[in-house]
This record gives sequence, C-alpha cells and structure tokens, in this order.
Amino acid sequence: MQTTAVVIGAGHAGLAMSRRLTERSIDHVVLERGEVAHSWRIQRWPSLRLLTPNWLTRLPGLDYAGDDPDGYMPVTGVVATLTRYARLAGAPVRTATTVHALRAAAEGFEIQANDDVLCTRAVVLATGACSLPAIPAVAGAVPRSITALTPLTYRDPGQLPDGGVLVVGASASGAQLAGEIHRSGRPVTLAVGEHVRLPRRYRGRDIFWWLEATGLLAERYDQIDDLTRARHLPSPQLTGTPQATMTDLNALTAQGVRIAGRLGRVIDGVAQFSGSLANTCTLADLKMNRFLNRADEWATASGLDGELPPPHRFALTRVDLRSPLELDLSSGEIATVLWATGFRPDHSWLDIPVRDRTGHIRHDGGVVTGAPGLYILGMPMLRTRASTYIHGAATDTEALADHLYSFLSNQRPWQGIRSPRPSTIISG
Ligand SMILES: Cc1cc2nc3c(=O)[nH]c(=O)nc-3n(C[C@H](O)[C@H](O)[C@H](O)COP(=O)(O)OP(=O)(O)OC[C@H]3O[C@@H](n4cnc5c(N)ncnc54)[C@H](O)[C@@H]3O)c2cc1C
Repeated sequence: MQTTAVVIGAGHAGLAMSRRLTERSIDHVVLERGEVAHSWRIQRWPSLRLLTPNWLTRLPGLDYAGDDPDGYMPVTGVVATLTRYARLAGAPVRTATTVHALRAAAEGFEIQANDDVLCTRAVVLATGACSLPAIPAVAGAVPRSITALTPLTYRDPGQLPDGGVLVVGASASGAQLAGEIHRSGRPVTLAVGEHVRLPRRYRGRDIFWWLEATGLLAERYDQIDDLTRARHLPSPQLTGTPQATMTDLNALTAQGVRIAGRLGRVIDGVAQFSGSLANTCTLADLKMNRFLNRADEWATASGLDGELPPPHRFALTRVDLRSPLELDLSSGEIATVLWATGFRPDHSWLDIPVRDRTGHIRHDGGVVTGAPGLYILGMPMLRTRASTYIHGAATDTEALADHLYSFLSNQRPWQGIRSPRPSTIISG
C-alpha cells in the first residue's frame, strides 16, 4: 500500500497532526496499535486527573466547551475528548495496527505494520514520550522480595501488598501517588531529588493561567540557553483535584508522608538517601519564588494589580532534620517500591540511524535530523515549553505540517498532494 504520509500513534499529538494534514489535503493514515487514546486507556492510573485545567485542554479546531473550564479532567474525560476529536476531525485512524519496523526506502519510507508493508513519503512519529518507565540502575539492587511498580503499572492502592511503600521520585506522578497511597493507610516514604515546586493557585488564578499569561509556556526551543536541561525538567508537583489542593512537600508532610533525600544507592539491601534534601528543597523554593516574581512583574506591567488579590509568598519547604538517610529494605518495613522516576519513549522499532549517543532522536524542533521527511511530535519542549502539554500540539503540528507540506512540494510529483483547503472549527 502507498500513501503520502503516515502518522504513527493516535494520541492527542497524532490526531492533531492528522487534522493539520487534512487541512493541507495531504492524504495520510494514522496507525495505532490499540484504540484512539490508547495510552490514557491502558497506561494511566484510574484516579489520575490532568494537572492542566480544562480550559487549557484544547487542540487544533477543538476548544473546551464543557461547563467546568476551571476543573481538571479525569482520565475518562481525556479518552472521551480524544475519541470525539478523532471522529469530528475524520482522522483516518487504523486501530489495532502496530508498527514493527520503519526503514528508509528508495522514495521515502517503508513501514511494517502488522503483516502489511506501507510505502510513504513522510512519517510523523507520534508514539508518545511516556511509553516506558525510566528506572534508575539502582533498582537492580533492591531485594527481590519487594514488589516493584511504576506509574505505568500502578492502578490503585488495593493492588499493593500490606506494608510500607517507598516512592522514589517527587515530581507530579510520585507526589500524587505518595499522597494517594498514604491515604489508603500504608506508611509512605518519599525519596525526593530535584523537583519543581509550584502552587496550584496564585492570586486567585490557576498557576497555568500565570504560566501562559507571562509567556513562559510559549518560550521557544531555539531561544533557550540550556535546551537539554529544559527538555529533562521534572514535571511540577501539581495535581488536579476538584478542591485545587496543593501537592507540594509541605502538604505531603502534613498528611504524614515521610520525606527523604534522593535515593543514591542500595547496598546489602539498605537504601541510602542523599543528605542534601534541605538544599534541594531550598533550590525548589527559590525557583518557585523566581517565577512568582516574574508573575507579579507581569501583572503590574499589564495593569492588573487592581483586579487581582495582592502578591504573597508561600511557606518555605519544611525539611525535618531527622529525615532518614538509610532505610533497610530487607527488614520487612517496606513491601513496595514505586519507581516514579520518569518516563521515556519507545522507538525500538525505528531502523533508521537518527539517534544520538544517549539514544534520543536528534531533531530540530521536531524535524528529525538526517532523515528528510521524518518528523517527531509529543516530546517535552519540542518547539516550546507548552509542547510538554496537550495544548502545545496546536503550534507544534502547525509548524511541522507546514514543513512537511514544503518538503512534499519539493519532491517529484506523486499521488496524494492536492491544493490546501480552509480549516473548520469543531465545537465540542
Ligand atoms: C502520568 C501522566 C500525566 C500527564 N498529565 C498531563 C496533564 O495533566 N496535562 C497535559 O497536558 N499533559 C499531561 N501529560 C503529558 C502528555 O499529554 C501525555 O504524555 C500524552 O499522552 C502524550 O500524547 P502523545 O499523543 O504524544 O502520546 P500518547 O498519548 O502516548 O499516544 C501515542 C500513541 O501511539 C501509539 N503507539 C505507540 N507505539 C506504537 C507502535 N509501534 N505502533 C502503533 N502505535 C503505537 C500508542 O498506543 C498511543 O496511542 C501526562 C503524561 C503522563 C505520563
């Protein structure tokens, strides 16, 4: 089979790209190993809610039109939204179609999907940044009697054996799950490394309102000093509860979660935590306040001080000087370790030499380096800081679809490219 372009993955990024290609009358298919929004159906724990507010859950041609713009969507809502988006956009999704190999071919690319081979001029990798857990090597030294979970395999506290839980990693997933598991009655120790502290609300507005209004989310990948660092920034300690509660370390400590430093080593079954917890927390407080200063300056410059409640600052992170430096994992105190240490993409089926030394695909704002016609979407800070979030797909797909269109236009004529037609807005 032959088609002009292939999008791999029917998450929000792949669906948004499909819409952009349709707008440009580029014939294409979207290959999806499961159903639309497969990651949200299979890989997210059921109690998860988006940490981004509903009004920000927008995609090209689809604005949030529900009755709770300031709420936070549950996983079921995300699945319903993406399923509706695929239908309204008429995305040509082939479900239950797994891509097993992608190779360069004489006129573009050859894709092996299930038992078929597809030939195409352009490919968009939209298979997600969070397909696999990123588990540190130290996990290999944890006693085998301890149950190991990740946010991708965690469902609810009932699945855990009785006993204490060590949650490693205090970004969004780790902080949220430490709280949820502790509420189930299990004692939780949270190992905290570098983290991003942000309040849920500030001066009467959701923190994402400030992140967007100040222009921080729109900062471009090619204008950032340390792009590698920006692309590996931990997710903020936020949760999307209907009560808009805080999920920072002070809130977790008040709840009874025991805070420890970064997990460094496990030797003879004993976990050793870094002694620099206080410094790590001071740095997170400083960075939070730096952003709040920027927010206040922006509000003043925009003449909004009269409309908004006055500026204030949050209590510094309280660090218990008795926080543990060691925890004997073979004593029976800890029954489960939850590795909330991040995620990584799975491009193991990609048979084109486009990776760097660390295994990441080399790209310039989503245009894959050294493979004309190959694009990647859905990576953190792909083109702007918003790329990490659902709404960032709007600008990313616009730019990459334009690039893809130009790329095809400069190719020898082949089937599938027609003149662009205007886009329509879907209301839903
Ligand atoms: C725990 C968690 C919470 C998050 N919370 C938020 C939030 O609150 N707000 C926000 O904006 N973002 C959030 N994100 C970030 C981001 O929106 C999600 O990671 C999002 O799912 C990424 O969308 P995507 O379309 O890039 O990838 P995915 O949604 O992962 O979609 C990729 C698709 O590709 C398919 N696929 C993969 N490999 C193949 C293959 N070989 N062949 C065929 N199909 C394949 C998968 O089945 C999947 O359907 C969160 C992420 C995680 C992990």
